[in-house]
Amino acid sequence: MAGKGVFEEIIDGDVYKYYADGEWKKSASGKSVSIINPTTRKTQYKVQACSQEEVNKVMELAKAAQKSWARTPLWKRAELLHKAAAILKDHKASIAECLVKEIAKPAKDAVTEVVRSGDLVSYTAEEGVRILGEGKFLVSDSFPGNERSKYCLSSKIPLGVVLAIPPFNYPVNLAVSKIAPALIAGNSLVLKPPTQGAVSALHMIHCFHMAGFPKGLINCVTGKGSEIGDFLTMHPGVNCISFTGGDTGIAISKKAGMIPLQMELGGKDACIVLEDADLDLAAANIVKGGFSYSGQRCTAVKVVLVMESVADALVEKVKAKVAKLTVGPPEEDCDITPVVTESSANFIEGLVMDAKEKGATFCQEYRREGNLIWPLLLDHVRPDMRIAWEEPFGPILPVIRINSVEEGIHHCNASNFGLQGCVFTRDINKAIMISDVMETGTVQINSAPARGPDHFPFQGLKDSGIGSQGITNSINMMTKVKSIVINLPSPSYTMG
Ligand code: NAP
Repeated sequence: MAGKGVFEEIIDGDVYKYYADGEWKKSASGKSVSIINPTTRKTQYKVQACSQEEVNKVMELAKAAQKSWARTPLWKRAELLHKAAAILKDHKASIAECLVKEIAKPAKDAVTEVVRSGDLVSYTAEEGVRILGEGKFLVSDSFPGNERSKYCLSSKIPLGVVLAIPPFNYPVNLAVSKIAPALIAGNSLVLKPPTQGAVSALHMIHCFHMAGFPKGLINCVTGKGSEIGDFLTMHPGVNCISFTGGDTGIAISKKAGMIPLQMELGGKDACIVLEDADLDLAAANIVKGGFSYSGQRCTAVKVVLVMESVADALVEKVKAKVAKLTVGPPEEDCDITPVVTESSANFIEGLVMDAKEKGATFCQEYRREGNLIWPLLLDHVRPDMRIAWEEPFGPILPVIRINSVEEGIHHCNASNFGLQGCVFTRDINKAIMISDVMETGTVQINSAPARGPDHFPFQGLKDSGIGSQGITNSINMMTKVKSIVINLPSPSYTMG
């Protein structure tokens, strides 16, 4: 259970502690941050509001711990990560309980998130052992004017202290997708979990603690992003930032110093449905893609662009499936659960009201109770409506009817986002041509957008991000190339 058994030491009274120097600590600030349960709308948990002095101390510790960690053999780093992965999976029930209570994740999905996270950690350990165990050997005489008198040995070295900031919707999975590559590559880590999701993240960190990582290597400071975020992201002790979230990431990119940034930001993933599409397949993917975890996924289908000739048929199929979605508390494993905060629910409602005023067709009646919003399909959405462009991060899905493929591509590419997109057609040639011109980091053919499997490259264009994730890319991103050049007194040739 959360905060019980092996997790007892991470809580003091009713406030969860933060993690630094291999220990669970109370903040000297004496302040805490409340985490509101999206379902009950009452305080569920409290976490420490860490101070700037505590952040300074953590950075110092992380810097010192990284030096010896970088000298720890790669196989030993991998061994510890495998151990942490196993412990994480053993405690999936306790962590899933937190996910249910603080972000209203449906019970089964919450367990899946933890198991997937364990698998991600193990895979990263294996991948790291392979790709970091290899470097490059170059000889000088391939470049004009050179003899073969220089040998260059290049290998990958860690960056130092990695600052990881994940969002609320996958506070465990999107934390380990930063922690594991950072550690296997020889970096130390400071995690700033999202406020909603912080307690799940603290339980996950305790699994790493139980695995026996060196003191100071992994640290987790809690507090509101709006209060300690800037101090963290502009801290001179940080050598790399891996951030996943919304527009905050754009602001961070402007303020951060000369350090590598990995930014995975918002999306407005378009789903283009052509006349020859398998409409049953498209409808099933639109509902799964648009409404899983109540639409609170970066890769949710966020706008359907369907050819007018098949639009009626598609909308009917989607409507029929939406009618079958269960709505209610996450504990009952409902498909649609309350959205994360009241302000998110208000924002979503604003988009719905704007669409109503401007004449969208409501396929269901709009219904909201507290943070719980019933799934809503909006047909005949036009480009002058906010919902055509903005990310609702809720169970609201707009349908725009198009008269040509070009119109669909134009809408997709006119977005300032470029995370993923998808196209449904039985014509593979068309699918490839459309995928080529869609300005998104990934295009899925005949399936909804998705971040996984976690070893696939994952990236956003335009305002959707900087760099690429996916296990291999994340490991590489958290390293720098170092070269050693051997200068020979005379040219050397291996043959003749
Ligand atoms: P968010 O509001 O941007 O918050 C993300 C993280 O940033 C949280 O940990 C937050 O902490 C922290 N933060 C807030 N202000 C900060 C500051 N000034 N400096 C540093 N950190 C700060 O996003 P969210 O609402 O949690 O997540 C939803 C968004 O994430 C959506 O836009 C979604 O599309 C995007 N997302 C993208 C991906 C992807 O891979 N592309 C995946 C998932 C989600 P607090 O919680 O304490 O404020």
